[in-house]
Formats: sequence, structure tokens, C-alpha cells
Amino acid sequence: MNFSTLCIHGGYKPDATGSVVAPIYPTTAYAHPGVRRSTGYDYIRTQNPTREQLEKTLALLENGCAAFAFSSGMAAVQCLLETFSPGDHFLATDDLYGGSIRLFHAISQKNGITYTSVDTGDLEAVKRAWRPETKAVYLETPSNPTMRVTDIRAVSQWAHAKGLKVIVDNTFLTPYFQQPLNLGADIVLHSATKYLGGHNDILAGVLVAKHEEDAEKIRFLHNTIGACLDPFNSWLLSRGLKTLPLRMERHAASAWKIARWLQGQPKVKKVLYPGLPERADYAVSKAQSTGFGGMISFEVDTEETARHVLESVRLIFFAESLGGTESLLTYPLLQTHADVPKEECYTKGINERLLRLSVGLEDADDLIADLAQALAGGGAHGL
Ligand SMILES: *Cc1c(COP(=O)(O)O)cnc(C)c1O
Repeated sequence: MNFSTLCIHGGYKPDATGSVVAPIYPTTAYAHPGVRRSTGYDYIRTQNPTREQLEKTLALLENGCAAFAFSSGMAAVQCLLETFSPGDHFLATDDLYGGSIRLFHAISQKNGITYTSVDTGDLEAVKRAWRPETKAVYLETPSNPTMRVTDIRAVSQWAHAKGLKVIVDNTFLTPYFQQPLNLGADIVLHSATKYLGGHNDILAGVLVAKHEEDAEKIRFLHNTIGACLDPFNSWLLSRGLKTLPLRMERHAASAWKIARWLQGQPKVKKVLYPGLPERADYAVSKAQSTGFGGMISFEVDTEETARHVLESVRLIFFAESLGGTESLLTYPLLQTHADVPKEECYTKGINERLLRLSVGLEDADDLIADLAQALAGGGAHGL
């Protein structure tokens, strides 16, 4: 079956009622037909039919052997880190989601797991950062918020020769545009709060494993730690997935149009969008992704302009998060990266002038008109 069909029918077979959509089973417990006999379901945390059909669909979409739905993206990251042991080290893209950096610093290091932040777009830099205790490479591509691209195939090839696992946070492109497990990665991670859910109305996370040995570890931890997605949100996430291909096409088409328009604006100094052919990493993007997604970061001329735009948008919301129907404009330095040391932000290009736009599903021309009025006026004394 092709991708769009899998999004709709992938993990679900109608039950005796013939219900064409997966039912929600809120029950916490399942009555046993006899001693040592089970219906296949025992307790809600371990597995329930609503989450199970969702997880089957997710495994098919990422081409993994098993998928696990979590109560948040961060819960998925935390569970993944529990597969490491004290003394282990990993390499991570130097431009990661701020919450992941916070978790690595605040929790993993305390548990004896260390990491080195490296520009994973530069394979030689990745090789130099390797240590004998390195166990994995953790990639985010395109990165957040500076949209740098890592060659998943090249990193995986090197990593596997060294016996390392490759983990990819695929939140930005989703399996519709990029399938890391097919490019060599071992584990895929998602904040399903973003594009997979797609409507700015649920909190969820996902891990997908390519190999049964990893799936087994994650299955045990998922049930043991208990940050599992509940039946209602599992149902909402399944519903969101059905329109994933349609939504991603529109997000990407509008983002392309808006990125080009932004490039022509005098107050816009830099536009970061993986789909711009003039980029150095465009060839890598083309070779590993079938689309460039709906996220654009852009740098304006001054801090005053940035603040003015954030406070002047009318249709676009000045808000955190991304990947939903409503367009959201974020100020990475003060929002997603608030807990990352300022110096670290500056070296990555996250400064007072950088804005990040999650292009929603509104009409692209309406979004452009909104950005145009927000960029107009303001200036040095516009506040
Ligand atoms: C939002 C996000 C996360 C964290 O997920 P939550 O669902 O907010 O817990 C992780 N990685 C990326 C790239 C994200 O955008």
C-alpha cells in the first residue's frame, strides 16, 4: 500500500461492529476469560486497542518494526535515554530543540550519560568528536531553528561501522517527506504534538524502532515508566494522521511561496528554508527528502523590527509550537531556547533578530499580507 492509504487504513481492521474508524476504549482493565487466559489486553498502560492501532500505523509510516506512542515528545526522548547506561556518551546535532538540550543537561548528565554537541552537517567534525565510550548519534534534520541539514545516509554509514546507533528526530519533515529508517537510521523520534497531530490540539510523542532488539528495550521501558499516550489522544492522533499527506503538501507549498517572498523584503536579511536551491546543503536535502516542510526561520534587520513583527501580526499567532493548522511565529531566543545559555545561542545564529515561522494551512496570500503589514512601519522607533 502507498503512504496516503497507510495513513488511513494502516493499523486498523474493523471490529465486529464494522466501525470504519477506530473506536476509543477508555477502559483501564480487561476481564480475563479464565485463569492464565487473556484477550490480549490486560491493563491500559501495557496496551489498549486504540493506542495499538495507532502504533501499528506509525510503524508502517516510518517503515519500522514497532512504534510506541508517548504522552509527549519529551517523554519519548526521556524513554530513549533510559536505554543508555551510566558512562555512555553520545553525539548530538548542535542545533537541537531547546527542550532536548535541557533534558540532556538537567537529567541525563546527572545519570552519568554525557553528550557532545557537534555540527552533524560536517561528517569530519562528527568523526573528530567520537570517543571510545560513544554509543549513539542523535540527529535533528532540518535542525531547529536554524534549518541546517545532516546527511543521514553518510552519518549512518560511518556510525554503523563504529557500532553506534543512529537516532533521528523527524518532527520537522515527518515520514511523508523523510524516512530516516530507510536512510540507515535505527530509531526515529517525533513530537507528535506538531505535524503528526497537526491541529495544535494534542500533546504526544512517538518512537519507532527499526530492529526488534531496540523495540524490545523500548517496549519494556514504555510500560515500566508509564508515559504512554492515553486512549483519547491516541484516537485524536490517528485522526490527525489521516490527513498528513494533504496537510504536508499544503504546508510545504505555502512555505516555499512565503520564503521566496521574504527574500524580497528589505528588512529581512536572511531566510533559512531547506528548499532554497542556493543553499549549500540543498543537494543533501533533495537526496534524502521528498519535500522541505513548512518551517522557515528568518533574520530581520534589528531587534526592534523583530519585536515589532511579533507584536503586530494579526492572523499569525505569536506563540510557541509548530506544525499545526494555525500559523505560529516564535522568538527562539526567548521561547524555545530560553534555557540554553545565551553564548551557546549566539554561536548557533540564534539571536535577537531571528524569528521562526510555522506556516499553517491558511491561504498563503493571507499570510503574506499579514507579514507585510507587520514588517511595515515599526523600524527603529516603531515601538
Ligand atoms: C516540540 C519538539 C520536541 C518536544 O516534544 P513535546 O511534544 O513538546 O514534548 C522534540 N523535538 C522537536 C524537534 C520538537 O519540535
